[in-house]
Amino acid sequence: MRKYVIMGVQGSGKGTQAALLCRDLDLVHLSVGDLFRWHVEQHTKIGAQVRRTMAAGELVDDDLVESVVQQRLQIQDWNFGFVIDGFPRNDRQAGFFLETYDIDSVILLVLPDEEVARRVLSRRLCSGCGLDYNLMFHRPAVADRCDVCGAPLVAREDDNPDALQARLRDYHEKTEPVITLFRRKEFVVELDATRSADDIQIELRERLHLPAYVPSGATPG
Ligand code: AMP
Repeated sequence: MRKYVIMGVQGSGKGTQAALLCRDLDLVHLSVGDLFRWHVEQHTKIGAQVRRTMAAGELVDDDLVESVVQQRLQIQDWNFGFVIDGFPRNDRQAGFFLETYDIDSVILLVLPDEEVARRVLSRRLCSGCGLDYNLMFHRPAVADRCDVCGAPLVAREDDNPDALQARLRDYHEKTEPVITLFRRKEFVVELDATRSADDIQIELRERLHLPAYVPSGATPG
């Protein structure tokens, strides 16, 4: 059983790195932001509670976040473990988390703020199948259309300059102290997130002593 937390500012590639790790090691990727986005899209009661907060790039109330995380982890579908992404984001959430779960490692993706802005503002999402695009690194073959399902690409509601500033401020003020806490208590693997997704994943596997990562298109061996 492997339990990892993945941390880093928005746009640092947490979702991509978590997905690559989960795919090969049969782990469950638990993204708190994705859980909330699902609630918003499905117009649930929780969705109605969090929609405005999310659109403004602010943090959702701790009680609600903790109950959503707890409920998700109570579904025992993570036989081989999980990678939790987007949680904990402040001291209180970290306290709750450390009391409840043992963590093997904290994966920290480090990206300077200027690069965050460049990446986040060019991020797009398929409105049909949810595939991620980035107009700098992963452009669709046909402008504004998903390569897989053909649905229009849209920007996340919170990927705008004002919400980005709010999220960066919260990250530095509230989430960085959590990283300091984890450094004292846990094994933090810090990675330079300015590199390609494949290069980051290769180093991550080495540092966590996991089976080597073979990028798609490369031959194992
Ligand atoms: P993310 O996809 O991780 O950037 O999360 C999107 C949004 O969901 C955030 O801007 C917050 O509004 C909300 N959110 C996600 N995780 C948390 C958390 N741990 N605590 C509070 N709000 C969160």
